[in-house]
Amino acid sequence: MEDHLSKLDKRLLSAARRAGALADKRGVRLYLVGGIVRDILLKKQSLDLDMVAEPIIFPSSKGRNPGPVPSIGGTGTWVEADAMKFAKELSTILKARLVVYPQFKTASLSLSNGVRVDCATARKETYPVSGALPVVEPGSLKEDLFRRDFTINALAVSLNKNSFGQLIDEYGGFRDLKSRTIRILHDKSFLDDPTRILRAVRFEQRFAFSIEPKTIGLLERALKQECFCSVTAPRLFAEFKKILKEKDPVKCFTRLNQLNAMEFLAGAKQINLEVFRRLNRRDFSQDSSAWLIYCMALMESISPPKKEQVLNKFPFTREEKQSLSQAGRLKTVWAALQKKDLTKSGVYAILKPFSLDVVLYFLARAQEPMVRARIKRFLEKDSKVAVCLTGHDLKNLGVVVGKDIGLVLNELLYRKIDKGYKTKAQERQWVKKYLKAL
Ligand code: ATP
Repeated sequence: MEDHLSKLDKRLLSAARRAGALADKRGVRLYLVGGIVRDILLKKQSLDLDMVAEPIIFPSSKGRNPGPVPSIGGTGTWVEADAMKFAKELSTILKARLVVYPQFKTASLSLSNGVRVDCATARKETYPVSGALPVVEPGSLKEDLFRRDFTINALAVSLNKNSFGQLIDEYGGFRDLKSRTIRILHDKSFLDDPTRILRAVRFEQRFAFSIEPKTIGLLERALKQECFCSVTAPRLFAEFKKILKEKDPVKCFTRLNQLNAMEFLAGAKQINLEVFRRLNRRDFSQDSSAWLIYCMALMESISPPKKEQVLNKFPFTREEKQSLSQAGRLKTVWAALQKKDLTKSGVYAILKPFSLDVVLYFLARAQEPMVRARIKRFLEKDSKVAVCLTGHDLKNLGVVVGKDIGLVLNELLYRKIDKGYKTKAQERQWVKKYLKAL
C-alpha cells in the first residue's frame, strides 16, 4: 500500500503526510477511509481525502495526555477523538479554509491547490427502524468500517508515521476489489438503508463490477418488502442525482429496471427507457447540467400526474422544477420549428422563453436536420445577440418613454438577428425608419 500512496498526486500525499504527523503529535490514530482508498487501489484519481480519527482507549481515567499512539486492540476508557479540534489545527498547518459541522461532528478543509479534506470521528451506527436515520455514537475504526455500504468502500489506510500507507482490510474489501465484486457487509444492510440499492447499482455499473449473488438475493428481498417506502425523499433524491451524474446513467437505469428497482422514482418497478436511450448525448455531454437533461428524458417516460408527484416529492430547486416542466413542451416546440418559412428571429422567439438546459434537451432529442440546425444556430449565435442602443438612445431618437421603449428594443433585436447589423449606426437607422413608418 505504501507504493500506492507514494504514487498519489503530490498535493494529496503532502496533505496526508502532514495530517499523519499532526495525528502523531496529538496521540490520535488517523486513517484514510472509504471511496478514496477504493479509488487509490483502482488507480483512479480524486482530490478528496476522507479521514477518520479513531477514539483512543486509555487504560486508566480520561483526560490524561494520550502520549504515543497506543496499539490496536487495547481495552479501557473510550475517549472520543475530537475530529473538529484536529481539523482546526490541521487547517492552520495546511493553510486551508475550514468549515465545521458540529451536528455531525465533522469538518471540511479546502486547500488552495484544489485538495479537499473531510475529517470525522470514527463512529458506529445502529438502525432502530429500517430506512430511518441511524443512532450514531463514537466507535472504533472497525465499527466505523462496518457501518459502510460495501466491502470495497470499507477499506482504510493508516496515516500515522509508523504505519503510514498500511492497508486495513477488516471485511475482505481488497479481495472484492480484485474480483470486481460488490458485496454488502451484513444481511440487514439494504433494510437498514435502502439507498444502498441505488449505490450498489451505481458502483457496479461505474466500475463494470458485479453484485455478488447473495447480495443480489438480499437486495431483491428488501425490494419485496417495499423498502423504499421507509426512506425520506431527500435521501433518495441525493442518490438518484448521483446516478444521473454518472458518466453513463443509461447503464445504471437499465440495471435498476432489470432488478425491478425503479419504484423509488414514481412507484413502478420498471420504467420505459426508450426516450432516455435515444438522447443524443454528444449534444450536451460537456454541460454541467447534463444530469438535469437526463432527468428531463426520464420524466418524459412517466405519466403527467406521476411526473407532478415526483416534482413535488424531490427537493429540486425552483429553476430545476421549471426546466423539468418546460421540457414537456417538446412536441409543440418541434412542430413550430418545422415550419418552412421561419425567420431566424422567428426561431429566436420560439426558443427564447426556455432555459438553456431545456433548449439543449430539445436539441438532444431532435432527429430532423432542419430542427437541429435551427436549434444549433440559436444556441451558438442568435441567443447571444444583444442590441447596442440603450433606452436613452431611443428616447433621443424620439421614442416615447414607457412600454414603447421595450417594444422597440425587442423589434430592433429581431431585425438585428435577421439582418446581422454590426454597428450602432445601422441600428439607429432602422429605428428612424421604423418610427417614420408608424
Ligand atoms: P463517489 O466516487 O461516488 O463519490 P464514494 O464512495 O466516495 O463514491 P460517497 O457517497 O462520497 O461515495 O461516500 C463516501 C463513503 O461513505 C463511501 O465510500 C462509504 O464508505 C460511505 N457511505 C456513503 N453512503 C453510505 C451509505 N448509504 N451507507 C453506508 N456507507 C455509506
